[in-house]
Amino acid sequence: MHVSVEQAREMLSALLSPPGHETVPLQGALGRTLAAPLRALVSHPSATESALDGIACREADTLGATPGAPARLRVVGESRAGLPFPASVGPGECTRIYTGAPMPAGADAICPVEELLDDGPEHVLLRRPASPGDVRREGGDFRAGEEVMAAGLPLTAPRVALAAALGHQTLPVRRRFRVALLSTGDEVVEPGQLLRPGQVYDSNRYGLAAMLAECGCEVVMLGHAPDSVEALEEAVARSGGADLLVTSGGVSMGRYDFMRDLLIDHGRVAFWKVRMRPGGPAILGGWKGLPVIGLPGNPVSSLVVFHVIVRPALTGQPLQALTLRAATPFRALGDKAAFWRGVIRGGQVHDYGQQGSGILRSLSDADALVIVPEGQPVAVGDDVQVVLL
Ligand code: AMP
Ligand code: MG
Repeated sequence: MHVSVEQAREMLSALLSPPGHETVPLQGALGRTLAAPLRALVSHPSATESALDGIACREADTLGATPGAPARLRVVGESRAGLPFPASVGPGECTRIYTGAPMPAGADAICPVEELLDDGPEHVLLRRPASPGDVRREGGDFRAGEEVMAAGLPLTAPRVALAAALGHQTLPVRRRFRVALLSTGDEVVEPGQLLRPGQVYDSNRYGLAAMLAECGCEVVMLGHAPDSVEALEEAVARSGGADLLVTSGGVSMGRYDFMRDLLIDHGRVAFWKVRMRPGGPAILGGWKGLPVIGLPGNPVSSLVVFHVIVRPALTGQPLQALTLRAATPFRALGDKAAFWRGVIRGGQVHDYGQQGSGILRSLSDADALVIVPEGQPVAVGDDVQVVLL
């Protein structure tokens, strides 16, 4: 039942029912995941247009123009953004033109306003030749009908802008997962309450709720339950309609680790224990048809398991690792992948130092998790895979 991190991720993904789709307005699309490919409904630019303010003319009329011997053109009208020049530009003629305004028929080049002098009310002098390069070609960004965005893309701010530019008012997105969250443990106390010796404030529930929010999930806060199977059953029964229940605490080998007992004795178990540190005792299973992932109580363990196993399963996005040079050694474990906390300085990754799974600051102060595969220690100067936090 001891699975690898990759197996754990796949088993969790397999337990989650596919989230289904819904349609949201552009304004509510940030952070959602595109559920279907998006095609351009129009081309952008929709016509060949000027990239600057100046005049539009025929390049041939302006060749050889210099400040001492400027070209002289007659101004026959103007082209504004959204208000094109209705006629055609002939030889020796030009129109005034502004950024984003369509190129008039007959014109093929632009001369910027900085290079122009007025010569009476109807003529301009060009101190240099007009340039055909100062236009934006029709469809230069995308063409009508082109598939521009693929299904599965996370909708970042630039992608929301792109979807709007494609002409879509609403977007098909994956439904949010509804995730119930419960922390357990007799010693676990709500922040703000008096803390007696041996007790600990409930950091996991708030850390995990924040991570679930980052994943775009709807969080059902079940609060906190003491260490007893009955209390857990009562709390779990309140997670109605959730796609997944995430719990913290009570999954190791101890006598009072009842979350483990609940799944083993009353539910079903897909895996218990992942070959990783921190986070080894995590358990995956189900209780009355509800998928449940039980995270360890140790604060670093619960958040790291969430980061490397739960987040990728909920978002459908693979864990993004990058390669950095190790500035300090990182030890390997014989039979587990290690996720040591690292600090990035000068493009290299350093050991954070304190790597205990109860040292929450090792996670909040760290920049990255350094992945050390089973039995493969990292020496100074080696390349290592790191996951940014
Ligand atoms: P457990 O997994 O229940 O054996 O707990 C392991 C350690 O994590 C213990 O030191 C607990 O006090 C601590 N712990 C459990 N739950 C939480 C929590 N919600 N917030 C902070 N620490 C916790
Ligand atoms: Mg406990």
